[in-house]
Amino acid sequence: MDELCLYFSLISGDIYYVEEDEIKNLDKSQIPLTQKPKSNCKKCHGRFHMGFERIKKYYIPCPKCKNTCVDWDNFNEQDVVIESPKTTSEIADHDFIKSAEQSGIEGE
Ligand SMILES: [Zn+2]
Repeated sequence: MDELCLYFSLISGDIYYVEEDEIKNLDKSQIPLTQKPKSNCKKCHGRFHMGFERIKKYYIPCPKCKNTCVDWDNFNEQDVVIESPKTTSEIADHDFIKSAEQSGIEGE
């Protein structure tokens, strides 16, 4: 029953293990992973993120590793919340953020 599950935090940018019975306590900025990102990934070098988005304050998931490493059976992008009401489908799209900032929708 002590199974460890791999998670990535959009807030801290860390990959870490969570005990199975702790998963229910996680907030909605944690992404379940099935495996660690490859350290030879040219985009994220195994960190699973491509850098910190200073304005929205989250780590930008690697689009390449997102496809291969995320546990999609247990993860729904629409459910993720960084700062309500944003979702990962929004934050994953960097152009969306730029356009949102330019048009001043932010902080509505
Ligand atoms: Zn990557």
